Amino acid sequence: MSPRRNYPKNKRPKSDERDISTSSQTIEEHHEGMYIVRKLTGSSSNKPYRCPGCDQVIPMATPHTVAWLEDDEESRRHWHNACWAKKDKRRPNTERTRNAPRY
Ligand SMILES: [Zn+2]
Repeated sequence: MSPRRNYPKNKRPKSDERDISTSSQTIEEHHEGMYIVRKLTGSSSNKPYRCPGCDQVIPMATPHTVAWLEDDEESRRHWHNACWAKKDKRRPNTERTRNAPRY
């Protein structure tokens, strides 16, 4: 459990956190390695992707998950949220938030 720091909204220390426009990027540990995981709302997707979990196409503008190995952006894939969630169920996922929580 991490203590939550509350900074005044108009006086946020810039050196403390990087301001990245992606608001919901997390790191997950899977047996292949550490994954960067980004949840997409779907509004930004404008072409269909094929999910490697079920081999079905993710329709356009569907909320889904993009994930890639931390040191290999070529491994980047688009997953159904459900398929990603059950991908590595054998182990408990350690999920850490890299960015500041969304307000
Ligand atoms: Zn799928």
